[in-house]
Amino acid sequence: MIDRGSMPVAALDDRELGPFRTVRILGLPVHDVTLPEAVARIHVWCDRAGPLRQVVTLNPEMVMAARRDPAFRAVLEQAALVTPDGVGMTLAARLRGTPLRGRVTGVDLVEALAMTDHSLFLLGAAPGVAERAARALDERFGARVVGTWAGSPRPEDAAAALDRIAAARPHILCVAYGAPAQECWIARYRAELAACGVRVALGVGGTFDYLAGVVPRPPAVVRRLGLEWLYRLIRQPWRWRRQLVLPHFALLAAAEALTVRFGRRT
Ligand code: UDP
Repeated sequence: MIDRGSMPVAALDDRELGPFRTVRILGLPVHDVTLPEAVARIHVWCDRAGPLRQVVTLNPEMVMAARRDPAFRAVLEQAALVTPDGVGMTLAARLRGTPLRGRVTGVDLVEALAMTDHSLFLLGAAPGVAERAARALDERFGARVVGTWAGSPRPEDAAAALDRIAAARPHILCVAYGAPAQECWIARYRAELAACGVRVALGVGGTFDYLAGVVPRPPAVVRRLGLEWLYRLIRQPWRWRRQLVLPHFALLAAAEALTVRFGRRT
């Protein structure tokens, strides 16, 4: 078990910490934030009374989805924290001359939050997977997971999910329904979740599958090289259709970078 004292803890409140620098990639906001900074800010939000804060880990597939879907775009615009997830985000930012300091993925964020004293509820993934992920987080980090449920993003399943969350009253809700369903679900039930005591809610994609060992996590060297997309494509080839948007993202990001840099010189 990891020493909780080793995690960064914010000593300042939200106003004193100030806003994160925002970079816009293809019109979508992303914050220049490191993992310790994201955890410290979430810690502050959990500790102080205030509105429910939504956290999004944004990757290029999600950027492309938001360009087609105004409702999803609106959800991203109102999120309190949007972290760069996926090497495409940091590359695109660097190309435009507005580099980001690093990436903050869903699984890194959940593991780091599991080391804090805040309670977590894991919602989503296939039946049994959230329970296994909770056990892994408990064994590895001593996490305070106060509830799990597979549920589904369908409106008819929302009441059952909200009942369970209300009974558990977690500080942090992690939702694994895949993007953009998970982000839209959180935004839609924001008021109800706040009434359940939830302070921070985040979409976590395939994080529970990794934690439960259902899907192997790319090795550290693959993550360092930013090749998770290739690893996932090889291990989960049925995802190829979803990844078709990635070359389009790269082209648009390169065109945007040229426009931004050309515009600056003139
Ligand atoms: N998922 C779910 N219900 C749904 C759709 C997806 O519980 O209706 C879960 C799925 O089982 C997986 C997670 O959502 O655990 C994330 O899926 P995916 O790998 O597609 O997300 P990504 O990591 O690419 O955002």
